[in-house]
Amino acid sequence: MTRRFNFRLLDMIASPPRIAALFSFTLLIAPACAFGNETTISNDAVKVAVAKPSMKPAAPPVRPKGPLLVEPQLRVEGAGKGKPARVALTFDACMGKTDDRILSLLISERIPATIFVTARWLKSNPQALATLKQNLDLFQIENHGQNHIPAVDVPASIYGIAAAGSSDAVMQEVAGGGDAIAAAGFAKPRWFRGATAKYDASAIRQIRGMGYEIAGYSLNGDGGSLLGAAAAEKKISAAKDGDVVIAHINQPTHAAGEGVARAILTLKKRGVEFVRLQDTRETGNQGSTR
Ligand SMILES: [Zn+2]
Repeated sequence: MTRRFNFRLLDMIASPPRIAALFSFTLLIAPACAFGNETTISNDAVKVAVAKPSMKPAAPPVRPKGPLLVEPQLRVEGAGKGKPARVALTFDACMGKTDDRILSLLISERIPATIFVTARWLKSNPQALATLKQNLDLFQIENHGQNHIPAVDVPASIYGIAAAGSSDAVMQEVAGGGDAIAAAGFAKPRWFRGATAKYDASAIRQIRGMGYEIAGYSLNGDGGSLLGAAAAEKKISAAKDGDVVIAHINQPTHAAGEGVARAILTLKKRGVEFVRLQDTRETGNQGSTR
């Protein structure tokens, strides 16, 4: 770093509008360099700033294309024509609390389900954890990750959530979730569903390599728990033979859960055969299952 540069830098530090310009320019440059290291990014930004005191970038920054994300589908083997529909209910317990409207209904109606839990949710819901353990004949507990970080191995933002961003971080997310489930006393999980249910192809291969199958779904029942009660009820009530339904069991204050609970009763009255993922054969696309 030259003395002249130091002088310019001090000059800029003394001038708030220039600092703001430098800061915003650095922000513009940084995403384009998301795959590089940070030192290089800052040096480049400062060099340009010194050469052009006006701080006006000559051309828009080149941004890398985002990773190609896939959202695998999963279906269970249907019961076949003339038989009651076979449906797998799957619930995500991402973080936060427990929706007892759903959990207590599953227990009182003896409806089996697969529940994807994070380490984070397990830690903050000891009562629900005890309830699940008392009903292991109903519930298959599977891995929703350690901290609810999307299992994508390059930097990306998905629904505003920062992805793991590297294969090491994907491994930590998956292994951390699995370890927490085993430590809580459940069977070793063999299914993984990442936060947002989106992945890139190399993360899918990595997670499969860790011994997991990846749990997609075929029917989005509650729109990330953001649907109204009537809309969630309508969607889930329309489940067909072989459907894997995804909904949330961690949002007790959202209206969607009320609709989810009503739809479960509707399906039961219709004679639907409820299965867990371990009860039947499944087929996933995008290389997500065997
Ligand atoms: Zn989740």
